Amino acid sequence: MEKYTGKSIFSGVAIGPVLYYGKKEEQVKRYKVEDTAAEIERYDKARQQAIEDLGVLHDDAVKKVGEENAAIFEVHAMLLEDDDFNDSIHNTIETQKVNAEYAAALAGDNFSKMFSEMDDDYFKARAADMKDISERVIKVLSGKKDSGTIDEPVIIVADDLMPSETVQLDKEKVLAFATQYGSANSHTAILARTMNIPALINIPADPSWDGRMAVVDGHTGTFILDPDPDVLEEMKALRDKDNEERKLLQELKGKDNVTLDGKKINLFANIGGLKDVAAVLQNDGGGIGLFRSEFIYLGREDLPDEETQFKIYKSVAETMAGRLVVIRTLDIGADKQVDYLGLDKEDNPALGFRAIRICLTRPKIFRTQLRALFRASAFGNIAIMYPMITSIEEVRRIKEIVASVKSELDADGIKYGDVQQGIMVETPAAALITDELAKEVDFFSIGTNDLTQYTLAMDRQNSKLDSFYQPHHPAILKLIQMTIENGHKGGAWVGICGELGADTSLTETFIQMGVDELSVSPSMILPVREAIRKSHAKR
Ligand code: PEP
Ligand code: MG
Repeated sequence: MEKYTGKSIFSGVAIGPVLYYGKKEEQVKRYKVEDTAAEIERYDKARQQAIEDLGVLHDDAVKKVGEENAAIFEVHAMLLEDDDFNDSIHNTIETQKVNAEYAAALAGDNFSKMFSEMDDDYFKARAADMKDISERVIKVLSGKKDSGTIDEPVIIVADDLMPSETVQLDKEKVLAFATQYGSANSHTAILARTMNIPALINIPADPSWDGRMAVVDGHTGTFILDPDPDVLEEMKALRDKDNEERKLLQELKGKDNVTLDGKKINLFANIGGLKDVAAVLQNDGGGIGLFRSEFIYLGREDLPDEETQFKIYKSVAETMAGRLVVIRTLDIGADKQVDYLGLDKEDNPALGFRAIRICLTRPKIFRTQLRALFRASAFGNIAIMYPMITSIEEVRRIKEIVASVKSELDADGIKYGDVQQGIMVETPAAALITDELAKEVDFFSIGTNDLTQYTLAMDRQNSKLDSFYQPHHPAILKLIQMTIENGHKGGAWVGICGELGADTSLTETFIQMGVDELSVSPSMILPVREAIRKSHAKR
């Protein structure tokens, strides 16, 4: 028995024979060409062919692994249209008078290296895509076809897996992934999460393991080769227990969030950034009900500029592909502080200069975020939500600023989408005037974390208050009921995005109150779906 410890990128236990997925690396030869124009044309034709192949692979993958995972082939086709990449290949052929295969391999290496050296994890993970597309063109140039079918369920072991290789694998036959390289953000990782199979990285993949029995333990990040009988028994028991729990919830994937008496509820997810979107998709979230944008502002030396924010919002909106993405504007202050804003120390920060109060006092910060949000709205279904509202005047002031930002974008000729505007109802003041507020906005999202803190006058951070803290306090439930009723009377839809929204003991109560949407952490989507499906909407 041999044991290796790597890093788990998705949990679970798998037991089975290893399939060592060796790099079918093309030995690219470099040779001189006389007619560089003809060689460039040969490259362009191969590139065109590769784009067509990717279209076929995409359609096939949609059927096998769903639209989100198949999207990688569309991305690759787009990368093959990239001017920088193609110019670099044309240039190499022309100036060095070399063959197209060599020029494509060189560009693949260079671009991949460039991406891998970037600080941003997302771009780092794109390094594999650049290698992948260059190898695809080289394959076309050399007249080779894709290969590789798997006969029996296996644990795939590899140095690294190209995104397109992972997607083409017959997913019924893959028990787990264990690779030497890769990242938690890579497509392999995303796919493993979507396929719900364990995956490890930092495992010293060795071709001699091919065909040998192995265990992948995604709970501890361990890879065991030729397990001893007692270890095997122990792992089998763990795997069966895991599978049982998962199966129960996985069966709910793709099912409606519908009550026993036929009422449908929107079940969305709360996220803190781009990296959480994969978990939303993996857990079958119907949209994003709360993107806490302040996480973009935390842990930095200065304010994130418009472009930085735009890229993040655009990426989330595109990944969610038309599903609603509710982005909350900056909710900084209280427990979330940054030095660069130079805010004074306060005696009562939770009741202090925070969230919308900062944005309305420092409109430049607010306008930058609004510009980024509206620009990104052209790429998906974005809604904007404002935190810590206490009065009608605040909402009207926000609307004036929004109107001014929109005219600025119009003047710049920048397109934006149809953006719903809503507010967090998380102060008792807001809840008590929801009849008036509903006329001003498209939706309410009830922030039960703060609503509870302010209604019960109990610091949500103070653990000494645990014994006094009553999340089901009738005052909170009354305010929720009132908010839902007033929202509906005024034509606004109403959701809950605080932690109470994921409390399955209250799911039926919220539905009976008439809630339209629940937004919960990604891992709670399926448990809440289960609770919805066991509820009655009518009392
Ligand atoms: C809330 O207050 O309930 C909420 C969702 O916002 P946060 O937890 O970010 O304050
Ligand atoms: Mg809050």
